Amino acid sequence: MSAIKTINKIKDMQEYSDRIHEGGECMVFIPTMGFLHQGHLSLMKKGREVADVVVASIFVNPAQFGPNEDLAAYPRNIERDLELLEKEHVDIAFLPDAKEIYPNGFQTYVELNYLPNHLCGLSRPVLFRGVTTIVLKLFNIVKPHIAIFGQKDYQQLLVIKQMVCDLNYDIEVIGAPTVREKDGLAMSSRNSYLSSEERIHALSLYKSLKKAMEMVEAGVKDSSIIIKEATDIINSHPDTLIDYIEICDSETLDSMTTIDRPALMALAVKVGTTRLIDNMVLKP
Ligand code: AMP
Repeated sequence: MSAIKTINKIKDMQEYSDRIHEGGECMVFIPTMGFLHQGHLSLMKKGREVADVVVASIFVNPAQFGPNEDLAAYPRNIERDLELLEKEHVDIAFLPDAKEIYPNGFQTYVELNYLPNHLCGLSRPVLFRGVTTIVLKLFNIVKPHIAIFGQKDYQQLLVIKQMVCDLNYDIEVIGAPTVREKDGLAMSSRNSYLSSEERIHALSLYKSLKKAMEMVEAGVKDSSIIIKEATDIINSHPDTLIDYIEICDSETLDSMTTIDRPALMALAVKVGTTRLIDNMVLKP
């Protein structure tokens, strides 16, 4: 049993937060869906560096899963997660109940107009409205000064930054770099779905991003040539199905045909039944 302090109720979390504010301490918040890995823990380490009090949440948010997505199957291991958070000296693990977050009659959602109409938002239509709604609710419950999100979910990071700006939330949003396995696969809770065969093919995402980086460094500027190469790399692996490969403006997410300034290359690929995403910023 881990000894980390856990809070389950919204009111208790708000009262805890009020006490931190009264004491003049700085609070950082790191929301997660649990089944923690080193990517998540890098955010906790960053949190420990930037604030006095570190709060992490674990909540598998039903509102961001579509009807045919993996909500029920999403991996969970709360005991292990709490031990890992304790090792990172996280002060509070906030573990709300779905019924308290979304009680009967819940009907208010936060939606952005532009950024979600790109990349993952096109194949997962409810994803970002679910993400912005839960993150805003968590911000109102935890009341942090700083929040940390991973660049692994680059579009999510942009969406949250935009929401905080548009709604004048007095919260500093920090993006943290993607943590990868030794061979380059971006860490993800969903990697646990992969069979050993699929794990090999999952590396095609990183391989294609790395190849793109090399091509840009060698002077290739035409996005279509790079996307074609990435497509070939991924298609050379069996059991892969490309959802999208895009090269786009790293702020607006609009497609870029010529890489004449730093550009985001983002991709989503199904490996077997597991949908994986990854991205890198390509710098000419
Ligand atoms: P999740 O539990 O997947 O919702 O992720 C919680 C937070 O961890 C989000 O801000 C993610 O972007 C971040 N995250 C997930 N995987 C990684 C990774 N490999 N490296 C860095 N951050 C990550």
